[in-house]
Amino acid sequence: MITLANALPEWQDDALCRQVDPELFYPEKGGNPEPAKALCRTCDVTDKCLQYALNNHEQFGVWGGKTERERRELLATPRGAAVHPIQQRRRTGLAEHHQTIVAMLDRPTPATWSQIGAAVGWSGDAVKKYWHRQQAAAQQQEQELAA
Ligand code: SF4
Repeated sequence: MITLANALPEWQDDALCRQVDPELFYPEKGGNPEPAKALCRTCDVTDKCLQYALNNHEQFGVWGGKTERERRELLATPRGAAVHPIQQRRRTGLAEHHQTIVAMLDRPTPATWSQIGAAVGWSGDAVKKYWHRQQAAAQQQEQELAA
């Protein structure tokens, strides 16, 4: 099993979102990201979190107080690109949770939602909803690219 604790960067120790339901940070399409953004505004590691998300081109969810669209806009500006070089890729935090979920589902006998939840510290139901939203978002993105 992947061990998460050793891989987490120091700033994640102070991540306020670790204390709440992760679903808050992955609103449904057309849903309200403001509750997550409000929490980010009171978080001590907002800048580091946003930097991380930009460096890793995180496509989903609220990171560092910014939605996917807001992050895309930041990266589209020359200043944003200079501040957030994409070469600095690291795999931690929510991104690492995603990897764990993928790995556990991609087994000959896929893990159950609750087994995955136990591995990433979420409820099984939260993992299931997260995964279905990821699939739907990826599908939509594919359709947009194909159009
Ligand atoms: S700024 Fe980042 S670490 Fe802090 S609450 Fe928001 S998403 Fe979590």
